[in-house]
Amino acid sequence: MKNSQSDNADQNLVPPVLPTYARADVAFERGEGVYAWDKDGNRYLDFGSGIGVNNLGYCHPVLVKALTEQAGKIWHTSNLYRIEGQERLAERLSKECFADSMFFTNSGAEALECAIKMARKFHNDNGNPDRYRVITFEGCFHGRTLATIAASGAEKLVKGFGPMMDGFDHQPFHKDMSKVEAAITEETAAILIEPVQGEGGIRPVSGENLQILRDLCDKHGILLMFDEVQCGMGRTGKLFAHQHSPITPDILATAKGIGGGFPLGACMTTDRVAQCMKAGTHGSTYGGNPLAMAVGNAVLDVMLAKGFMEHVDQMSYELRKALVKLGSSYPDVIDVVRGKGLMLGLKLHTPVPEFIAAALKNGLMVVAAGDNTVRLLPPLIIAQEHIDEGIGLLEKTCAVVKKAVDAKKADSDTGD
Ligand code: PLP
Repeated sequence: MKNSQSDNADQNLVPPVLPTYARADVAFERGEGVYAWDKDGNRYLDFGSGIGVNNLGYCHPVLVKALTEQAGKIWHTSNLYRIEGQERLAERLSKECFADSMFFTNSGAEALECAIKMARKFHNDNGNPDRYRVITFEGCFHGRTLATIAASGAEKLVKGFGPMMDGFDHQPFHKDMSKVEAAITEETAAILIEPVQGEGGIRPVSGENLQILRDLCDKHGILLMFDEVQCGMGRTGKLFAHQHSPITPDILATAKGIGGGFPLGACMTTDRVAQCMKAGTHGSTYGGNPLAMAVGNAVLDVMLAKGFMEHVDQMSYELRKALVKLGSSYPDVIDVVRGKGLMLGLKLHTPVPEFIAAALKNGLMVVAAGDNTVRLLPPLIIAQEHIDEGIGLLEKTCAVVKKAVDAKKADSDTGD
């Protein structure tokens, strides 16, 4: 018989689940709306949405109904056959954005893999097989596959996994994106950017900069690709974050909120680019299966209902206003409040892991990001009372963190 998990811990052996996450010691048992309960019955307010996934909260009745009804009909058929839910979801999404065609995946990284492959195939089929390189930006995150870690290039993602896949040119997160032009060569296929960087620290790209990138792509005959895995699906108050500006991409990858917690992603594109993806060029056993499609369509039912995005706008205005006020009460803790819609970040003066642990202890779930930032990604269905409660818990957290900072300062003043 093998050792149990606790025996393994005692003997310093690896646990049965690979320890790739520094997990908090909480296991949730159930969730409803904006709250989750742990095994001991403690209630937590969720301002993290499972890293921007549960955009409609826990157990939204429309989603539960769609999933359970579909579960009683048919789960999986493979993509060897027509899947009507895919056709319906693709048509509905197309009506709401630039896309003419799309491929459904199970995750964000898979949607990005499809995007990167498609950019290469597009140029190959248009007589430019040398155009295979993609320009990406400092602080970006596109997933954990070999291609997507190479796309990011961040030391913490790539270390130990070399040799890296070739084909990515990393640029600074320029204040003025016209500087990107210097990085475009005869080998450039595309520019890939998150309209609001998530993991990088909730850093929005301005509409002017998106326009500059669009113009550069048009001038040089290359493709503009958006990663809206985190900032898409209503998170910023529009179905897609780039829709705050008039410009459109050639390819867009999305995931997370599109399935409301069911694994689902999509790689969307225009008619012009889609021509290159013929039968046999790409695939997925599970991608877009009937269960995922039932939930994806249900998510859209909720998000496209009248007043949904207006609610997100209103709540984001209230949350941001309250966060700015909190920041002015705790200037030693909070440096800057930034973001778009309900994708907000608190850049801190103090260490983020301590802040997150203190918040969890207070019953509030928030998520870490780069650039010493705490991510606030509440479900889009939050109401004013949840904002008030969340701000109260954040205030309590700031007080705890400030006390620890003050104590440290006092110690160093007295030379202890
Ligand atoms: N792109 C962005 C912007 C993300 O935030 C993430 C995940 O956090 C991904 C891609 C990868 O998505 P997944 O973890 O579903 O593969």
